[in-house]
Amino acid sequence: MKVNLKPNNVSSLTKVLAVATQNQFAVGSFTPRATKMVAPILRAAQEKKSAVIVQTSEREQERYGINLVEFSREFYRVIREENITIPAVLHLDHTKDFNVIAEAIEVGFTSVMIDASEQPFKKNIEITKKVVEYAHSRGVTVEAELGKIGTTDFIETDVDEELFTEPKEAKQFVEETCIDALAVSVGTSHGVYLVKNPKIDIERLIEIRTLTSVPLVLHGGSGTPSEMIKNAIQIPNGGISKVNIATDLEHMMIKTLNREKLCYRKEWSELPTETLTLVQNAVQNVVKEKIENFLISSDSASYYV
Ligand SMILES: [Zn+2]
Repeated sequence: MKVNLKPNNVSSLTKVLAVATQNQFAVGSFTPRATKMVAPILRAAQEKKSAVIVQTSEREQERYGINLVEFSREFYRVIREENITIPAVLHLDHTKDFNVIAEAIEVGFTSVMIDASEQPFKKNIEITKKVVEYAHSRGVTVEAELGKIGTTDFIETDVDEELFTEPKEAKQFVEETCIDALAVSVGTSHGVYLVKNPKIDIERLIEIRTLTSVPLVLHGGSGTPSEMIKNAIQIPNGGISKVNIATDLEHMMIKTLNREKLCYRKEWSELPTETLTLVQNAVQNVVKEKIENFLISSDSASYYV
């Protein structure tokens, strides 16, 4: 897919997050965990007139059989066929393998995340820098992570270890790598909160914001109380401007399917159309609800002119 064939409303993270930071809202970065769920996310965003990010990660390829080419094709197909006009980003979430990043860029992803956060600080800088050089020369933005965001579902990371982002390190990391967005560890976890309770460290977030001007990303948005998210979005000079939401969508899919686990690749194509539509509608409603009450991004498309 050639860059010049991209619809005008599809872009990298740069403008989408800059506008969000300035106007104190966050753009939802939704993980569908099934290619057939890309459509309801875009439909919900269009309905709410909100900017949106659709993402999938390296691990979801193994876990759910997601294929980057098909995922990208579906994203662009829905945008064209359903006249989606809101600002939209196609993002590769948590990825460690450089080859997967290169493949995503090749097939039309406009943004990527390199996650070398389990590496020592210097090594994280080195790996991230290499990805930034590669991606930027192709007009693609890069998100990276500093600190460790714990997990309760082990889909995104292997360890349930939490290490908060150090503001001074964040400053050095951003300056040396030239990344476009920084995922910070400030008290949320991936997955649902069965054991831990989320508590966003606002003081730490303010300190990171004071020392860096890069857009900030919150992973583990599912299940975090909306008041807490709102505070993190609306700190002075712009707080969190991208919030990742995966688990809440997955739970709604499982519930609607009345299953214990999410379908794997092939099973989706074997579902009766009525069931598929039910699941898609349920996902669309969750995304709409998040946009309205969680991200404060309804009508944000009007800021992008
Ligand atoms: Zn994450």
